[in-house]
Parts: sequence; structure tokens; C-alpha cells
Amino acid sequence: VDFQLTEEQTLIQDMARQFAAALSRLDSAIVFEQLAAGDVSHTAMMTIHNMATWMIDRYGGDAVSAKYVPRLVKGELIASYCLTEPGAGSDEKKMGWNAQPTAQVIMEDCRIPVENRVGAEGDGFKFAMSGLDGGRINIGACSLGGAQKAMDASVKYTKERSQFGKMISEFQNTQFMLADMATELEASRMMVYRAADMLDKQLPNAGANCAMAKRFATDFCSKIANDALQLHGGYGYLSEYEIEQIVRDLRVHQILEGTNQIICHFAP
Ligand SMILES: Cc1cc2nc3c(=O)[nH]c(=O)nc-3n(C[C@H](O)[C@H](O)[C@H](O)COP(=O)(O)OP(=O)(O)OC[C@H]3O[C@@H](n4cnc5c(N)ncnc54)[C@H](O)[C@@H]3O)c2cc1C
Repeated sequence: VDFQLTEEQTLIQDMARQFAAALSRLDSAIVFEQLAAGDVSHTAMMTIHNMATWMIDRYGGDAVSAKYVPRLVKGELIASYCLTEPGAGSDEKKMGWNAQPTAQVIMEDCRIPVENRVGAEGDGFKFAMSGLDGGRINIGACSLGGAQKAMDASVKYTKERSQFGKMISEFQNTQFMLADMATELEASRMMVYRAADMLDKQLPNAGANCAMAKRFATDFCSKIANDALQLHGGYGYLSEYEIEQIVRDLRVHQILEGTNQIICHFAP
């Protein structure tokens, strides 16, 4: 195959390389939001890989970072985050997030050489929690992307579908629903972006704001996706229209990275 990048593609490649090297939390949230508008499940997997890789890079010290981070960045290794202790369940059949594997990690009589330890003994929980601040921003950003896609599809669909002699976009009820969805989406976006900016600036209340943004954005974006399905009527329930997949993919964001009930422990 005669395959060579054009001059323009080489420039795009260089720009992406330089750009990606210095992304802030807010930059990453913007990127993940747009990727999630393409596919929520793939993007969410990348964000978790990104979160765990960041933790190794940030806290692992030179030797551990040099050993793992270059291969993680190239995608030769995939990082995962094992925080949840199992109580039950084995063969998980998921309602969404099907583009990525979810598996239990079982470590039996497993000895980890001390040179692989990230940070000092006893620091793990602190590192895990700080990783979650960024993880919560990222999962919120994935919800934004999915909800935006569902919202855009609804605006288009309601202008195409006629019932009772007029477009369904002409019913005031439809307009009110779309206005609510747009408002909730914008409020969610502001919460996520603001928390990301606070984390970038290492402001004292950044952790609580990451938790609030995750709770708010994942709850509202799931609602928006569900409302979008409703506006599509029966067609929204069919896989052909992609809305049902967004509903299924976003649902787990209310459960992961701290359930939206547990996460309220930030409450003053
Ligand atoms: C698709 C998928 C992928 C996952 N990927 C990962 C992963 O990569 N890494 C990982 O570590 N885990 C992962 N998980 C697990 C996930 O993080 C947990 O399911 C989640 O943290 C909730 O824990 P639980 O299932 O034990 O629920 P429980 O803690 O049993 O909660 C059940 C209910 O009780 C409520 N509840 C529990 N305690 C309290 C409390 N103190 N106050 C108020 N309400 C409470 C919860 O909010 C929830 O409504 C994944 C799960 C799924 C479904």
C-alpha cells in the first residue's frame, strides 16, 4: 500500500504531539468531551487509562515512571484502577460500556517487588483519592459529550418528525423540554470546567468541586439522554438511532468513581 502522510497531515501530527504534551485538566476535559460525542464508552476507557497513568507518573518516582509510563503512553500497556472491593458477582454482563472490557482483578499470593511500589508505604489511599479528582472531571466530561450528542439528535429529529399535522418541534411541550435540556447541559458543563480549572490552580476546595461537578453532570446528562430518547418516541428505543446506547453508556457514570450518593460525603 502506498501510504504516506500529506504535508498537512504531518503538521497536524506535530501539532497534536506538542499540544498533548502540556494539557491541563481543563484542556483534557474539553478534549474528552468532544471524543465522547463520538463514542462514550471508548472515551471513558481512555480516561481511566489516563487517570491511572497520571498517578504512576505523578507519584511513582523516576524509576517506576521510566519503567511504565512510556509504554502506557504508547498504548503498549493499558492501566486500570482497582479501588472497589468485591462483595458478590462474577460474570458481569453490562447494560452499556460494551466497547471496553471490565474484569475483576484477582491477586492471590501475589508478591509485588518493592521497587514497583508507587510512593512510600501507606501513601496509596492518598494517591488513589487524588487520582479520583481528575477521574471525576473526566467522567463528567464524557457525560457532557454523550448528552450533547443526544441533545443535537433531538433538535434535528423533532424538526423532521410530524404528528397531528405539525412538526413535533412546534409543540410547546417539546420546546420546553429542549430548553430544559440545554439549560441543564450548560450548567453541567460550567460545573465540570470550573472544577477542572480549580484543580489546575490547586485551589483549596478543588476536590469538593470535582465531586460536586461529577455528581451534578452525570445525573443531569443521564436525564438529558433519557429525555432525548423520550423525544424520539419508540424510535429512540431502537439501536439504529444511537440514543438508547448513549442512555446505557452514561448510566454507569452515576455509579463509578464514587456513587453519586457516596460522593456527597464532601458535604460541608
Ligand atoms: C461497568 C463497570 C465498570 C467498573 N470499573 C471499575 C474499575 O475500573 N475500577 C474499580 O475499582 N471499580 C470499578 N467498578 C465498580 C464501581 O466502582 C462500583 O460498582 C461502585 O464504586 C459502587 O460500589 P458497589 O457496586 O460496591 O455499590 P455499593 O457500595 O454496594 O452501593 C450500593 C448502593 O448503596 C449506596 N451506598 C453505599 N454506601 C453508602 C453510604 N455510605 N452512604 C450513602 N449511600 C451509600 C450506593 O450509593 C448505592 O446506591 C465498575 C463497575 C461497573 C458497573
